[in-house]
Amino acid sequence: MKPGKAKPLKDLRTFGVAAHIDAGKTTVSERMLYIAGVQYRPGFVDEGTATMDFEEEERERGITIHSAAIKLAWQGLDYTLVDTPGHVDFTVEVERCMRVLDGVIIVFDSSQGVEAQSETVWRQAAAHGVVRIAFLNKLDKVGADWDASIASMRERLAAEPVSVQLPWILPDGEIRLVDLVRRRVFAYAGDRADAEFLSAPWDAEREWATDEDWSDSCDGWEAERLALVEAVAGIDEELLDHFVADEPIEPELLRDAIRRQTLAANMLPVFGGAALRGIGVEPLLEAVGDYLPSPEDVPQPMALHGPPAGKRQEERRTVLDADAPLAVQVFKVVATRHGTIAWARVYQGTLEGHEQVYNPRTEKVERVHGLFIILADSDEAVERARPGDIVAIKGLKNVRTGDSLCRKKQPVSFSGWVFPLPVISMAVEARRVEDRDKLIETLGLLHIEDPTMDWRVNEDTGQLLVSGMGELHLQIVSGKLKRDFGLDVLLGSPRVAYREALGRAERLHGWFERVLPNKTVSAWLDVEFEPAPDLDLPTVRVALSDSTEESPAGRLLIETAVKALEAELGTGPAHGFPMTQVAATLRGVRQDPDDPLPSPEELEIALNVLMRDLGRLGDIRILEPWMQLEVRVPEEHLSAVLGDVQAHGGEIHKVEVHGELARLDAIAPLSKMLDFTTRLRSSSQGRGSSVMQLERYREVGKEDRERLRV
Ligand code: GDP
Ligand code: MG
Repeated sequence: MKPGKAKPLKDLRTFGVAAHIDAGKTTVSERMLYIAGVQYRPGFVDEGTATMDFEEEERERGITIHSAAIKLAWQGLDYTLVDTPGHVDFTVEVERCMRVLDGVIIVFDSSQGVEAQSETVWRQAAAHGVVRIAFLNKLDKVGADWDASIASMRERLAAEPVSVQLPWILPDGEIRLVDLVRRRVFAYAGDRADAEFLSAPWDAEREWATDEDWSDSCDGWEAERLALVEAVAGIDEELLDHFVADEPIEPELLRDAIRRQTLAANMLPVFGGAALRGIGVEPLLEAVGDYLPSPEDVPQPMALHGPPAGKRQEERRTVLDADAPLAVQVFKVVATRHGTIAWARVYQGTLEGHEQVYNPRTEKVERVHGLFIILADSDEAVERARPGDIVAIKGLKNVRTGDSLCRKKQPVSFSGWVFPLPVISMAVEARRVEDRDKLIETLGLLHIEDPTMDWRVNEDTGQLLVSGMGELHLQIVSGKLKRDFGLDVLLGSPRVAYREALGRAERLHGWFERVLPNKTVSAWLDVEFEPAPDLDLPTVRVALSDSTEESPAGRLLIETAVKALEAELGTGPAHGFPMTQVAATLRGVRQDPDDPLPSPEELEIALNVLMRDLGRLGDIRILEPWMQLEVRVPEEHLSAVLGDVQAHGGEIHKVEVHGELARLDAIAPLSKMLDFTTRLRSSSQGRGSSVMQLERYREVGKEDRERLRV
């Protein structure tokens, strides 16, 4: 596919694939790309500079291999497949992708039905207004059960699943697929796990009504089609009118009705197949065009900012006009030591390949040094990007996931990016002592890419700590350090990331002074600390009653004080855990006029005293992460697992038994669940599986608090 003339917006589909781990997300995506003629090829390497070292080059290479979005053409439409990560430890990554998707295929393992993360991605998609269709994968597997899977969608997703396709499994195991809308049957010759068969697709389709070989066995399908028509007519009034008037329901009529109701989230069309064997992939590609939205169908909300940039003025929907003021949203950043690649979607206006853009978060103008798209067989520089396009932007220096890009004169932003707090931390150490600086620098880069991974140095011990969304998350980070940066690291054992919060408001003021090696820093501050349950990250506001703000020196002092306070809130007064759910308001700040302005770092040291006072006078609460836990075990091991969860402070929410398999939903404090997978392995003789994700931070019980003190 070549970038010919721009397609009309109605012919674009920007979509992703999401699933519970192992349901087949990767296989489905790869088969779709392969069948649509996409071949992976390392790219961006040509753009590398001569000074680039080997690891950097490897890393740049990875950008295309793991490219965030690939274009493909299917039946005259222009598709962009956005990569969505799979593991629950990265739900935040799934979440940020959901923001740029218009539609998503949710893949289910048809032998499992709805699983924990299917629910999670379902909820995320719903929250972002992403249109959904379902693919029941692994129909070739023993235990595959179409009806039970459909039932679990109805029950666990509260969805309105409608089979627009049905499996037709022959006694010898051959899988055919019946397209109830267009009256077709797909039969596949040979095992399409073989690439040769994959590339000779699709011609096996036959219409059931006219196929003499199958006519007997096809009798029942017309009745199934009628059932589908009735089900859709029960939701779609337009179809109902045709139906009650006894008109023939042509495929287009039925398809349009299903499309309307799918876009309105009133129904979930269900497809199926066995992606590993290439079964059901072409119909699924076709379904993307039929049932997933074009950008025109789903205008995005955004906030318009008047100058000054910080002041939000009104909410409004994007207008998809290439001449409208520029509105771009960055959804993924790949950081290298040579700068960043920012994956972004243009919502309105036109982004030129070499121009200045404004970032309302940093309040800075930056220059774009080239735009790229990943096409079927190559990556390709493009001159400009228009509404609906997803491009990789090179050259931006200070950009983060979630940033908006626009024109300085007409600032806009896409709001509501929230990254959950890390729940776990581990000590990390470079195996070679001389690598420590490089390790710190690299962790900084990785944090730009993945804001849910953070790091800090323990001030007392000098130990480097990384924190993230789970043990696996940090292990993957460590693998990345090794693979992409040649940094061999040792990880300590996982520790719960506790937080500190306030039970009541506290106002503190006074002179704070610290003697540093070559000077004394002293400042007068008046700060009000308040509990703020909605704020994950502590926030510092400024509300002065005096005239400090009026002089340039005063403004600098305020800025310094805000930075120092923000940094200081990262180390709570009770145990040094980062604070959460706290708002600090700076009500006053002064300095002796003869003293030089301190740096934020110097003032931060002086503010240690303020925090100590807060710890002494304030009502400090310790919070810990509670996890949502889902366990699946054979029923015979259920009671052992129930006992384990309860013995470790967990609350059981639900137990279900399906056949021989039991499912358990619970919440439990992470501090007692760090070795749960190991315990589960022994209590279920290796036959149980579990997933955990943050439920919310809750206050630590009294006894545990005592334990933390020592
Ligand atoms: P992901 O974790 O959702 O990305 O799942 P993957 O695509 O990595 O697949 C997980 C496992 O399921 C792999 O071992 C695949 O080979 C296997 N798998 C994927 N699709 C099918 C299928 O249609 N049938 C069967 N039997 N196995 C499949
Ligand atoms: Mg995968």
